[in-house]
Amino acid sequence: MIDSSEPFVIIAIDGGAATGKSTTAGAVSARFHLLHVDTGAFYRTITLALLEAGVSPCDAAAVARALPGLAITTGARGRRAVMELNGGDPAARLREPRVNENVSHFAALDEVRDFLLEYQRGQADVALEHGFRGLVMEGRDIGSVIFPDADFRFFLQAEESERTRRRALQGETDEIGKRDAMDAGRKSAPLICPPGAMTINTTALSLDEVVETISREVETRLPRACSA
Ligand code: C5P
Repeated sequence: MIDSSEPFVIIAIDGGAATGKSTTAGAVSARFHLLHVDTGAFYRTITLALLEAGVSPCDAAAVARALPGLAITTGARGRRAVMELNGGDPAARLREPRVNENVSHFAALDEVRDFLLEYQRGQADVALEHGFRGLVMEGRDIGSVIFPDADFRFFLQAEESERTRRRALQGETDEIGKRDAMDAGRKSAPLICPPGAMTINTTALSLDEVVETISREVETRLPRACSA
């Protein structure tokens, strides 16, 4: 239950691929009763939909034409925000190799980023509608572009060898270094450590240690949820 005397809290977690953002954000969302918004899943959903529509990331004009027609709606499953595609949750298909290979190419296009900008900011309303005390949003440009005034901003890092090992454990083929280079090198909203963000190197840390570090900061403003 929301206590109306409590502030609505926004936590931004940015970082490169496989730095531990999703697992950490999921655990933080449970601890403080926040909506968990994985914006990488939004970019992946758009990628899947455009690929299925036969659109190439090399053709920005075709991307611009296709975006308004995509069958996208907004929902929440438990604490997770979901960008629904054709009325369903596409989660099981978002890690397919073709999505991994193409997502950074689509994400580099202004057409795609502009399309997603207000959708992402609108997640604050989704969180309020569903009775959450705030949201924890993860991505590449959350603390720099989407919510530059977020109450808390974190930037996760990890050695590439450790990140590759994590993806392999998940049984995924993903060229992490290549995606990071594209994400950091693009013109619009590149992957950066937002000014003033707390950097956490997760290479040698357990999930619990990362979550504790973030929670200690957040608890200065928001008590833990009773159920956590
Ligand atoms: O977080 P995840 O690895 O699932 O993100 C997939 C891709 O989506 C990233 O490599 C990046 O190209 C794009 N992305 C982005 N901005 C965000 C979140 C993800 O450009 N805020």
